[in-house]
Amino acid sequence: MTFSNLNLIQPLLDALHKSGYEKPSPIQQKAIPLILAGEDIMAAAQTGTGKTAGFALPMLQRLSEGKRPAGNSARSLILAPTRELAEQVHQSVQKYAANLSLKSMVVYGGVKINPQMLKLRKGTDVLVATPGRLLDLMEKNAVRFDDLELLVLDEADRMLDMGFLPSIKRIIGKLPKQRQTLLFSATFSESIKKLSQQFLNNPKLIET
Ligand code: AMP
Repeated sequence: MTFSNLNLIQPLLDALHKSGYEKPSPIQQKAIPLILAGEDIMAAAQTGTGKTAGFALPMLQRLSEGKRPAGNSARSLILAPTRELAEQVHQSVQKYAANLSLKSMVVYGGVKINPQMLKLRKGTDVLVATPGRLLDLMEKNAVRFDDLELLVLDEADRMLDMGFLPSIKRIIGKLPKQRQTLLFSATFSESIKKLSQQFLNNPKLIET
């Protein structure tokens, strides 16, 4: 199994080659075809399994097929529990998107909100965010999700453990219903199952 067997486009294959990735990990082998096919997925994945590339690569490929609208729109949203994880995911996205004309941005709390509002004005293809700061930005109308195509909930169990469920519900309530949703979680607790029933559409289950 190679990355080109997974029908990834050349700009992504080149970025993977540059990163020294030789072979897709088990989660990548399962997730990439399903995400490219437009399916919602619910995946059990610990850190270190390559889950980030598992969702970021097919997501970037799908986004590369469309165009960024004018204004402060985000075409995709990745929610992560902590600023460290958000920063790490954003860096991975930038690395994989190096040969594509797609823009990624990251926002989290604990830093000034004004520079983030200014940056969001021109819109973005990928927005990586922690839930609290994203809600603040949404209340200030700093970002629009009318054109959102894809939502990723990364480390969903940790977000629930940290008490983000109400924030996540408020955020998702403002997103278009017609979208692709990907949920990654180390464990499938009852609350994660409930979350996925509420917000995912006929998800395909991935266990590695
Ligand atoms: P993650 O589980 O997404 O946090 O990824 C763990 C680490 O594995 C990161 O440092 C990635 O850069 C790396 N990685 C992801 N996929 C691959 C792959 N197919 N081959 C080699 N390294 C990888």
